[in-house]
Amino acid sequence: MKDTIKQKGLRRQLISSLKAKGILNETILDVMTKIPRHFFMDPSLVNFAYEDKAYPISANQTISQPYTVAFQTELLEVSTFHKVLEIGTGSGYQTAVLLGLTPNVYTIERQQSLFKQTQRLFLQLGLRPKKQIFGDGYNGLPNVAPFDRIIVTAGAPEIPKPLMNQLAIGGKLIIPLGANTQIMTRFTRTSTLVFDKEEFGQFKFVPLLENKI
Ligand code: SAH
Repeated sequence: MKDTIKQKGLRRQLISSLKAKGILNETILDVMTKIPRHFFMDPSLVNFAYEDKAYPISANQTISQPYTVAFQTELLEVSTFHKVLEIGTGSGYQTAVLLGLTPNVYTIERQQSLFKQTQRLFLQLGLRPKKQIFGDGYNGLPNVAPFDRIIVTAGAPEIPKPLMNQLAIGGKLIIPLGANTQIMTRFTRTSTLVFDKEEFGQFKFVPLLENKI
């Protein structure tokens, strides 16, 4: 897989456009500058990799818009020592961004074709999530919990209770909540029973599917 001078240039332009749209975290912008998004695109759409748009990938899913990836990642406030769970591996692009921030990334995907595809891709790119799981992310990963950070990259009609339970005290969950369109929502667990809730505007995601494998 190649990363040409032209692609690097387009990528730099994309990243400065994200800055102009309000993404200020330099670490995240640096990480995204280094990740060739075209590696994660459907082969027929690689020429669009540096547009700030979501695109179809296989299994009727999408690779998220770069702005959305940056925005969610910024809200997640990841440090290198955090244990992070991602629900919805999809193209693997968001996973790659998370791996640029901490080595402790766990990611779950419920479409087997995408799971296999990203397994191959991560190997090729030398990306090593701690665990990559084929399964229903609604249930989280009880054996690995608690997590410092949980990011859901599909639209959830309701809050998956297991994910709330698997948050460490002080931990954060970023989740787009809603059926047709979603409100980006951040929960911070301040004590065993108390979760602070903040909302960050409207987005549109493919649905989080539940228990349908
Ligand atoms: N982070 C991805 C976003 C992909 S779209 C990217 O940047 O490419 C959301 C993904 O969530 C899809 O791949 C979809 O199959 C997956 N998904 C939906 N419901 C899920 C569930 N219950 N468990 C795990 N993954 C799920």
